[in-house]
Amino acid sequence: MHVPLLIIGGGLSGLAAALRFARFIPDVLILEQHSRLGGLNSYYYRNKRLFETGLHAITNYANPKDKKAPLNRLLRQLKIKRKELDLHEQVHSEILFQGQESLRFSNDFSLFCREIELKFPSSYAGFTELLTLIDAYDPFAPADFISARKVIQDKLHNDLLTDMLLCPLMYYGSSIENDMDLGQFVIMFRAIFLEGMFRPGGTIKDLLDLLENHYKGYGGKVRTKSCVQRILTDGKKVLGVELTSGEEIRCDYMLSTAGSEETFELLGESSKIKKLPRLGFVETIFEIPPATKLKKAADNTIIFFNTAATFNYSSPQETVDFRSGVICMPQNFQNLASLPYKEIRTTHLASYKLWKKHAENRSVYNSVKDDTARSSLAVAEKILGNFAEDIVYRDTFTPLTIERFTAKKEGAIYGNPSKIKDGDIGYDNLFLAGTDQGFLGIVGAMLSGVSIINQHILTRI
Ligand SMILES: Cc1cc2nc3c(=O)[nH]c(=O)nc-3n(C[C@H](O)[C@H](O)[C@H](O)COP(=O)(O)OP(=O)(O)OC[C@H]3O[C@@H](n4cnc5c(N)ncnc54)[C@H](O)[C@@H]3O)c2cc1C
Repeated sequence: MHVPLLIIGGGLSGLAAALRFARFIPDVLILEQHSRLGGLNSYYYRNKRLFETGLHAITNYANPKDKKAPLNRLLRQLKIKRKELDLHEQVHSEILFQGQESLRFSNDFSLFCREIELKFPSSYAGFTELLTLIDAYDPFAPADFISARKVIQDKLHNDLLTDMLLCPLMYYGSSIENDMDLGQFVIMFRAIFLEGMFRPGGTIKDLLDLLENHYKGYGGKVRTKSCVQRILTDGKKVLGVELTSGEEIRCDYMLSTAGSEETFELLGESSKIKKLPRLGFVETIFEIPPATKLKKAADNTIIFFNTAATFNYSSPQETVDFRSGVICMPQNFQNLASLPYKEIRTTHLASYKLWKKHAENRSVYNSVKDDTARSSLAVAEKILGNFAEDIVYRDTFTPLTIERFTAKKEGAIYGNPSKIKDGDIGYDNLFLAGTDQGFLGIVGAMLSGVSIINQHILTRI
């Protein structure tokens, strides 16, 4: 078999890349190791109900008239109409540093500005300077690492506000510990605070089906349960892949969305990999009946919280760090048709190494998972009031769950801390897109797929 473009991975970056390319040349093939598309953003069924694995909120909300906004540009590139997505904006969200301060924000950026002016008046002038910097900064120009923490601190002169600004941006898009590269900070600040958050009317399955149907409409092909075990090369040219089944597929161009380290391993070039610490996460879903009334903060869409004296975003020494995290309530988007359930989803930093050790004994692993859900519930109840007695279903996924279903090393959602921003990994016809190119989140992953196809592949064909 020979195809003009072969894509490793049917996550959102692979799907978007495939759809973009198929608009011009239809014979694209996506190879996905799992039985479903979506990668980190997929779904599963329990009790005859669909559960999403990774959709709190989509960042980069855009007004339909803002033609240059990343979301609208992305939809144009994919020839998808906005109305096909049925966008619902967040109600509002909150950064809550318990016992210290809280800041509310929504898709109306002026709410965030007012909150900062009111609660951190002496930092407000510095905050407006930071906004000027964010407006002018080109995060895509090649640059060495610049500490975002230092830049923010120099403007705000306030440790608490610095941590409060960083907390959501790190949880939704930082692969490095306790700091961010300035470029990544600017991307995430624009995506979360300036543009805002939304979700499509249906489930993640509806979004994936929409992309897949458009793609197949152009003649594109998908093969699930097709794991690439080796990339075949001739010097700096890739020839194709060998699957775990032994089958070989040849191609003119290849795009890998499997991650940089994962791709170098497929190339037999493990020595090229710089081993850096990766961040793992646990997430618990608590399902409660729609009639359950939460006592506090119940109308928030997302709560980014910290309960410790200072905010620490690093790989924990213990199995899970419950001191900070994210609470998401996916029913709290504007004008969503009433759902037959309510969910509270909690996310915390977790140690892959310790989860791996617990997994040596299945019953230990399961009991640590139970303890994790209980501790996370206790943290969430401190913020939302009690709901334990109403829980009708509960599930926890660990870094090992994520590794198993997405083949992402150490289950690190944000991948390798060292990013390859131009997608060039030293081969004539093989490029990298997705998480390890440095665009994170759902819109980020899709933009990554589209931009690598535009920059490196469509220009050569
Ligand atoms: C719990 C959780 C919550 C999240 N919440 C949000 C959110 O609210 N908002 C948001 O914007 N983002 C969220 N994200 C992040 C978002 O899901 C990711 O940033 C994005 O989906 C990454 O897409 P990708 O295509 O780059 O990578 P992936 O989704 O990892 O796709 C790569 C694909 O390659 C496949 N693959 C790997 N190796 C091989 C191989 N050898 N052969 C064949 N196939 C292979 C994998 O199975 C996978 O499907 C969340 C993620 C998780 C896990």
